[in-house]
Amino acid sequence: MIQKEYFDTYRGKDIFKYTLQGDITVSVLTLGARIYSIVVPDKSGKPVDVALNFTNAEDIIHKSAYMGATVGRFGNRIGDSRFTLNGKTYHLPHEEGKAHLHGGLCGFDQKVFDAELDGDGVRMHYISPDGEEGYPGTLDFSVKFTVVGSTLEIEYSAESDADTILNPTNHCYFNLNGEGDGSILDNILQINADCYLPTDQQLIPTGEIKSVANTPLDFRTPKAIGRDINADDADLKTGGGYDHNFCLNDRHAATAYSEKTGIVMECFTDRPGMQFYSGNFMTARKGKSLYGYRSGFCLETQLYPDCVNKPDFASPVLKQGEKFYSKTAYHFSLK
Ligand code: BGC
Repeated sequence: MIQKEYFDTYRGKDIFKYTLQGDITVSVLTLGARIYSIVVPDKSGKPVDVALNFTNAEDIIHKSAYMGATVGRFGNRIGDSRFTLNGKTYHLPHEEGKAHLHGGLCGFDQKVFDAELDGDGVRMHYISPDGEEGYPGTLDFSVKFTVVGSTLEIEYSAESDADTILNPTNHCYFNLNGEGDGSILDNILQINADCYLPTDQQLIPTGEIKSVANTPLDFRTPKAIGRDINADDADLKTGGGYDHNFCLNDRHAATAYSEKTGIVMECFTDRPGMQFYSGNFMTARKGKSLYGYRSGFCLETQLYPDCVNKPDFASPVLKQGEKFYSKTAYHFSLK
């Protein structure tokens, strides 16, 4: 069952909220093709919203730091805010002193998408004009959200009229204790990754693919996010906590769990990487609840950051006329 309702108006455009009901209830907004809420029954049967967000368009745009958004055209960072494709160098917008992040200064997260029901899901559609945020090619992009039982499926499709690059992701902030519960440090996380990508001070991968063994980034065995977060480790210090791409061993990327609610979330993806971000840049702000430092964590499935400038990483190049497709799913259960 899918319900549509008016949410807000942004820059003269109406934003709608679609609510998809299965064994979990997921609401998505046409502003940034964004997850607004994910309501899951806890171990006592009480509904718990495990996705953070803000309650109006202005706050979402100005305060939310990509909360729940579809991020594009390129998730995470591009070193020196430039890349070369077919012999031509493209310069990308960025904040002063920082690298190009999450598709630029006005990426997909700030666009109002069209939406239509598509089978059991809702498909959100946006045409990104040639040159938008510095990227070549007119990109016909869509993301489909479907709830199947207790699983939220996110499917990305795209096609460009010229060679370009693409690396979309979703930037949902989770707290499996409930979105208003405060710190995520007691959420338990397991990541199926033997390696991660160390970064430089601008959070650009150095190119090294490093083993997680004997580092605080070893999540192969489940542990509380907070257990090692303040360890004396150069890579953790650079990220201000966890803000790293994990090189996934297989499609079953990660499992997170809350002892308080019993809610388990598993992440499955066809992408080779996942940015685990522990909300290190979050500051006190009022959304659906009061949020603060490390009150949400993100599992952003993607190609490796800066892969466009690193020939050893899987390439984000999307050739003219080629059909892009990628899928990530978050499955909920109880323990
Ligand atoms: C990045 C962080 C960034 C955050 C913005 C994450 O995906 O890895 O470095 O600050 O998004 O909310």
